[in-house]
Amino acid sequence: MSYIQDVLEQLEKKNPGQPEFIQAASEVLTSLEPVMDRHPEFEQAALLERITEPERVVMFRVPWVDDNGKVQVNRGMRVEFNSAIGPYKGGLRLHPTVNLGIIKFLGFEQIFKNSLTTLPMGGGKGGSDFDPKGKSDMEVMRFCQSFMTELCKHIGPDTDVPAGDIGTGGREIGYMFGQYKRIRNEFTGVLTGKGLEWGGSLARTEATGYGLVYIVSELLSTKGDSFDGKTVCISGSGNVAIYACEKAQQLGAKVVTMSDSSGWVYDKDGIDVALVKQIKEVERGRISEYAERKSGVEYHEGRGVWQVKCDIALPCATQNELLIEDAKELIANGCQVVAEGANMPTTYDATLELQNNGVTFLPGKAANAGGVAVSGLEMSQNSERLSWTFEEVDEKLKNIMKSIFAQIDGAAKEYGVEGNYVAGANIAGFLKVAKSMMAQGIV
Ligand code: GLU
Repeated sequence: MSYIQDVLEQLEKKNPGQPEFIQAASEVLTSLEPVMDRHPEFEQAALLERITEPERVVMFRVPWVDDNGKVQVNRGMRVEFNSAIGPYKGGLRLHPTVNLGIIKFLGFEQIFKNSLTTLPMGGGKGGSDFDPKGKSDMEVMRFCQSFMTELCKHIGPDTDVPAGDIGTGGREIGYMFGQYKRIRNEFTGVLTGKGLEWGGSLARTEATGYGLVYIVSELLSTKGDSFDGKTVCISGSGNVAIYACEKAQQLGAKVVTMSDSSGWVYDKDGIDVALVKQIKEVERGRISEYAERKSGVEYHEGRGVWQVKCDIALPCATQNELLIEDAKELIANGCQVVAEGANMPTTYDATLELQNNGVTFLPGKAANAGGVAVSGLEMSQNSERLSWTFEEVDEKLKNIMKSIFAQIDGAAKEYGVEGNYVAGANIAGFLKVAKSMMAQGIV
């Protein structure tokens, strides 16, 4: 049995009940066969066994009192996965589906994503099974304060720098930052995604969605093509989806779908981003309201975005939302590019189906790295106590996305899998971390 197969088998035994983590690890490790052939020293140093084991996991009780005076208890966690190239960095997910396996999959992906950004950031992720949906501002605040009361013992601007993810936006980061500052008596860049008045970076809100469109533009430009005149399907209607939609339309595309966990809209005339922002960012409402407020828009319950004919598909909702039957539908409808705005939205069999049928596929760890990249730029600005203009940050983001494309394209070519950007991203992201781990000894 090969070294990689052996490690994967052990990993499954050691981590029962963590299917998403096993899925993410299998996808990365199976891409690394050609790397292991060239670097036998990695096996001797048990590099894959080490890289798949988090450096540290903290799990803790988060008690808080709801508006009715009832005591609620959630579970909080932070997985500090790998610090070979920088302090742990990654978001906090607040969603009822959160469990250790989900946070480990996200933390594991984050190692390689952060490596691709070219910035010095290790990989981490955290969160809680708390559901902010339907909670009052005061309930969210009490939860965030309780969560940070424990988390603040484990993080710091040079140790571990959390940020947003599903369920954690500007409001939650604000409450958490306030509590950290109060307990530690330090004003530092310990979280990213902060408000612009108190240390946040311009363009951080837009970064993941914009970065996604920038890297797809880069890919299209290598084929002498662009977004202009393209029909785009987007799933989700959160931060990533909204700003991907905005940038794609600025570049001349027409985005015709968006969704949330209840249903999806089809707007043949092109999504009105301002209306989506009003409903989702201001009112915290449902996407069904979009169809109620704009004429000529269809609303459907459940899932179904991938049935719509498009040139480019951008899954921006959550993990495992684009299935094999969706992949077949996209192929039949002539879709040319699928790029992941969310983390692992495409199942592994759907990814293979797309790749084997001529669809160019950009994996999340490359395509959605713009968000954490601008988080890295926020850390730099906090360290020098300066803030850069929107244009400066946006320009840096564009260059980072270009560099990511060059790295994944270059690695795929160098390792004999040209055009396979899944392998290219895994190999390029891995090598930087692996070489750093080798240099730092058995730790
Ligand atoms: N949660 C985002 C991600 O998946 C951003 C993390 C960050 O900015 O640290 O990459």
